[in-house]
Amino acid sequence: MAKILLAGGAGYIGSHTAVELLHAGYEVAVIDNFMNSSPEAIRRVEQITGKHVALYEADVRDREAVAAVFRAEKIDAVIHFAGLKAVGESVKKPLMYYRNNIDTTLTLLEVMEEFGVKNVIFSSSATVYGEENAVPYIETMKRGVCSNPYGWTKAMMEQIFEDAAKADPALSVILLRYFNPIGAHESGMIGEDPLGIPNNLMPYVTQVAVGKRECLTIFGNDYPTKDGTCMRDYIHVVDLAKGHVKAVDYIMHQHCVEVFNLGTGTPYSVTEIVETFERVNQVKVNHVYGARRDGDLAEFYANADKAERLLGWHTEKTLDDMCRDSWNWQRQNPNGFQAAE
Ligand code: NAD
Ligand code: UDP
Repeated sequence: MAKILLAGGAGYIGSHTAVELLHAGYEVAVIDNFMNSSPEAIRRVEQITGKHVALYEADVRDREAVAAVFRAEKIDAVIHFAGLKAVGESVKKPLMYYRNNIDTTLTLLEVMEEFGVKNVIFSSSATVYGEENAVPYIETMKRGVCSNPYGWTKAMMEQIFEDAAKADPALSVILLRYFNPIGAHESGMIGEDPLGIPNNLMPYVTQVAVGKRECLTIFGNDYPTKDGTCMRDYIHVVDLAKGHVKAVDYIMHQHCVEVFNLGTGTPYSVTEIVETFERVNQVKVNHVYGARRDGDLAEFYANADKAERLLGWHTEKTLDDMCRDSWNWQRQNPNGFQAAE
């Protein structure tokens, strides 16, 4: 069976993707420097699946270290998850974001070229649609003007992949634009484990519910939406991970340069998330309404028809599943992977 290299594979989405790839019969190797993750996540992937993961601790910007992995493993395709992803931090430390995100991409592409590896899948984001495109976002739209350096790194990396594919007709590229991944593996053994104060909604909700933080601030209730709070297309991380398996199946069988939205197509408001979480889990989430957060759009969601049509992929899990599984992970691991390290 083919071997897939996950750059940044110890992180939230990479670890769930590793589980689904192993279940599907693929072999998995991971390179990660654990700057935002723990090797414990990979140990748990092995426990869940009963299968081995070849784990390499290295910076994906370190060309020699990456080449050594390609020398040791016969890699058939690469999925590039490695990157920094906190929007607010990217505004304060743009150079760090450009350096890490762009350099990892260039190094991976250069080493792939050196070793003749011709299949790559990239973790992009709905943020590349920018502020101008109307919802739902569809892949035929042009990339828009991003509102922060994180978004620009994604837009630039998409461009880099497209240019590399133009220059090398043998290179196959799939750009996956994720919407808002939440949830966790149903075992509760792996999940999202942010460092410090969470930036994203769901980890904040679960940390309030578990008593680590006092109160959630809902950023704005005066948006032009049904209840005044922002609407997003939340997708269960296991559905997202299965989207990667479908993308690998696809890229292994034909040459392609494609972009796919991975979302459900259905937006929910922040208030709906909080209410659903409380109902499904029978737990209180203290919250207050506060000011809008800079750069937030009122609403965005995916048109996910292309992924259904070409990859045969669609989401299966509900918002109730997402809220239940997020809580199951947080309750079993109140300090994330830390306690196990
Ligand atoms: P994550 O931080 O949990 O995972 C990223 C992994 O990459 C971490 O394990 C980190 O240690 C590793 N990494 C970062 N820089 C590295 C480097 N130079 N060398 C080696 N390893 C490095 O994030 P995630 O949520 O799993 O996201 C994965 C990818 O998906 C990222 O590129 C992110 O931008 C993108 N994405 C995430 C979301 C989201 O909401 N989680 C949405 C859209 C796109
Ligand atoms: N949000 C919030 N309080 C928080 C974190 C997020 O109200 O503490 C809102 C945010 O304004 C947005 C939604 O939750 O409308 C999702 O935010 P997140 O940062 O998770 O993802 P984004 O869509 O910004 O990538």
